[in-house]
Formats: sequence, structure tokens, C-alpha cells
Amino acid sequence: MDAKKVIENLKQRFPNEPEYHQAVEEVLGTIEEEYNKHPEFDKVNLIERLCIPDRIYQFRVTWMDDKGNIQTNMGYRIQHNNAIGPYKGGIRFHKSVNLGILKFLAFEQTFKNSLTTLPMGGAKGGSDFSPRGKSSAEVMRFCQAFMLELTRHIGPDCDVPAGDIGVGGREVGYMFGAYKKYTRQFQGVLTGKGIEFGGSLIRPEATGYGTVYFLRAMLKTKGQEIKGKKVLISGAGNVAQYAAEKVLQLGGIPMTMSDSDGYIYDPEGIDRQKLDYIFEIKQVNRGRIKEYLDKYPQAKYVEGQKPWFEKADIALPCATQNELNEEAAKALVANGVIAVAEGANMPTTPGAIKVFQDAKILYSPGKASNAGGVSVSGLEMSQNSERLSWTSEEVDAKLLWIMENIHENCVKYGTEADGYVNYVKGANVAGFMKVAKAMMAQGVF
Ligand code: NDP
Repeated sequence: MDAKKVIENLKQRFPNEPEYHQAVEEVLGTIEEEYNKHPEFDKVNLIERLCIPDRIYQFRVTWMDDKGNIQTNMGYRIQHNNAIGPYKGGIRFHKSVNLGILKFLAFEQTFKNSLTTLPMGGAKGGSDFSPRGKSSAEVMRFCQAFMLELTRHIGPDCDVPAGDIGVGGREVGYMFGAYKKYTRQFQGVLTGKGIEFGGSLIRPEATGYGTVYFLRAMLKTKGQEIKGKKVLISGAGNVAQYAAEKVLQLGGIPMTMSDSDGYIYDPEGIDRQKLDYIFEIKQVNRGRIKEYLDKYPQAKYVEGQKPWFEKADIALPCATQNELNEEAAKALVANGVIAVAEGANMPTTPGAIKVFQDAKILYSPGKASNAGGVSVSGLEMSQNSERLSWTSEEVDAKLLWIMENIHENCVKYGTEADGYVNYVKGANVAGFMKVAKAMMAQGVF
């Protein structure tokens, strides 16, 4: 394979999908050497078959708002690759959603799911519908309309969606209810379900907790620990909240949280009580992060900015793609940050990754460090198949084992001659090899 040629070809065939090109470029650049050690891969054009999704569903979603107006949105499901297990990946509801973004996420998901050691293929879906500012009744009607179409493409042994940006327990509940009504089947067809109807304990916490378990494993390679370290966190959603919770449990000090309008910085650190208030603002009231200052006026709120220019030891980007650019990376390095672990998917731009790697600081890509969410989704599928529920301790222990195992694999495949661990290369090569071997064994399709 000539990675550059493959990427050029994909750019020509699928223009206007910059996030998809970016994700493919990052992976191909790091697996090229390993791929070319296996001439049998190229003989069956494995690389194109791995980069181009198995299939894409696109559909119109029609629903009625509270005023009686008929609204339309686009719905999508990308079934990227099912070589190692049923398609698996989240659903995103956000106004920015388009085909290119979902293709990047489904591509990444394939490698991430492979890394977890669980039998899951890669997929992603969503809509340009934003739950922000909508009533719960509107969200429910939208979810029911979305599932009217998606139901026919998913199933417990075929494709099992989950949550992502804009899709939490409420939305998964409505989608599950709709699937059940349309099919008359009670099946483990979505993960992230409520605990009363087949959800797994620790699933809401899993992505954030897993990111911090991964961070702890990275720090350990340098004889460092989280205790006493100041941590910049972006986002204030599911991933960010539980990352902050685990940082606190391990003795670290979260300093910032953010949403798409701006960030808060608390010079005294965000403690348990303050984090509870953030949970209340975001989960109960579905409010904005700036409301933090109503109760804690010693903090500052910076409108329209990202938290990366504050001084700290660790950064955890947990909001969205491309939220940490080269300029921000330079500031973090200059301010003495020793580790960056991604809770979000592809939050760091290619230029920023280079800054971290050139500075030889610890840096992990989301497909490794945020794999805890899909891992516990995989465990939810196992529990649904067994028709049993495991305890929090059991699930948490399995999550910890998986995150440490992913870390070990990154070290195994990503350690460079000078001893620096290139976690991007480690994650990509380890994730790729398993999928490639499965595809080779299953014939050409
Ligand atoms: P949520 O919807 O719960 O939270 C997203 C947070 O990010 C919100 O604070 C939101 O602010 C902010 N945000 C969203 N879009 C933007 C933007 N364009 N610019 C700045 N801030 C933004 O989502 P999750 O926490 O579930 O997901 C966060 C990231 O983690 C995503 O990249 C997702 O793909 C990834 N991820 C999630 C997993 C999960 O289990 N949920 C699993 C693995 C990865 P606002 O309220 O203003 O929209």
C-alpha cells in the first residue's frame, strides 16, 4: 500500500468529508509499515475494503414540534465493518452531524472496538437534530420518528447502537421504547439503557472512568500518579462529568469544564460538591456551564474560548472533534502539561498531535483512551444475552482490566527506538491487525 495514494483516491471519490479524510490519514500513516509486511493484504485490496463502509443508510425523519409545525431532519446509520462482531457504535444528535463526520466516527469505532478485546464491529449513526432547546415531548416524538426507519436496519446480532453527543439515557429510552413497539420484541438492541430495562451498571460512567484509568496507566510508565495533579477538562456532558468524578476519586484536581458557549475555571478546583452542582445544571436542568458562577462566583467564565490556555499538569479533551488545535497544544506544552488523554473522539488536530509527540509528552488518542464506553456497552450486550445483571464492582473491574489491556497493547505496538510510546501508532496497529486477520479469513466481499 502507498498510504498517500489511497488517501488521495478516497478524497477524490468522497469529496467534502474532511473529518473522514483526517481520520483515515491518521490511521493509514501509522499502519502502512505493518501492512506492507503482509503482501497478502494488498492482493485482496484489504485497505480500501477497510476504509470504505460496508453500507450507509440515509433517510428523512419527519416529526411534529410542540406548535404543530412539521419538521424534517436527516437520519443516518453507517455500518462500517462487522468482521469481528455485530456492528456497534453510538448515535449522535447534533446540528453539525453530516455524512463525513459519521463516516469518520464509524471508521474510528472499528479500530476502537477491536482494541477492547470484545466481539464488536464498527458503526455510527445520528441526525442533524439537536435536543438542545427542545421539550422532552419533542425529543420523544423525534426519537420515535427516527426509529421508524432505523428499526429495520438494526438488531441484537446485527447492529447495536448506543449514545453519543446529544444522546443520553433519555434518548436511548425513547428509542428503545419505539423499537419495542414497532417490532414487538424485547431485545438488547441498544446499549446505555435504563437499569430497569436491561441497562448495565457503570455504563454512564464508563467512558469518563475508562479515560482516567488509561491516563493512570500512562502516568505509571513515568512513575507519576494523578494525586495532586491539576487537570483541564473540556465538555460538561457524559464523558466530561465522569472523567472529573474519577479524577477527584484518585486525588486529582479538576480545574475547568466547558460547553459549546465557553468554559469555567475555578482557581480553588472543582470538588465533589461543585461537581454535583454541575451534574444538576447539565443533567437535571439541561442548563449552561456558565450557571456554575451563580453558586461559585470565585470562578471565572470565559465566553467563546477553550480551556487549554490555563496552567495545569494534565489535559482531558472530552467535548468534540478538533477542539484542541496546534496553538492550544503549544500553550499546553509551554505550561508544563505532562499528559493528554482524549475522552472525546478525535478532539486533537493533526498539528496538535505532532506538537505533543515532538515534545515527547504522554498523549493517547480517543480510540484507545475512550474505549471504556463501548467496552461496557459490550458488557451490557453480554448481560442481555445471559438475561443477568452484574454488580457495579464486577463491571468496574472488567472495565479496568480492559483499559489496562488496551494500554499494554499500545505499549507493545507503539514503543519507538528511543523508548517513547507512540500511542497513536500502538492503538492503530493493534486495532488494525485483528480486523485484518478476520477479514482475510472470511473471504472477499
Ligand atoms: P454529551 O452530549 O453528553 O456532551 C457533549 C459536551 O461537549 C457538552 O458539554 C457539549 O456542550 C460539548 N460540545 C458538543 N459539541 C461541541 C462543540 N462543537 N464545541 C464545543 N463543545 C461542544 O456527549 P458525550 O459526553 O457523550 O460525548 C463527548 C465526546 O465523547 C464526543 O466526542 C463523543 O463522540 C465521545 N465519546 C462518547 C462516548 C459515550 O459513551 N458517551 C463514548 C466514546 C466517545 P453543549 O451542551 O453546549 O452542546
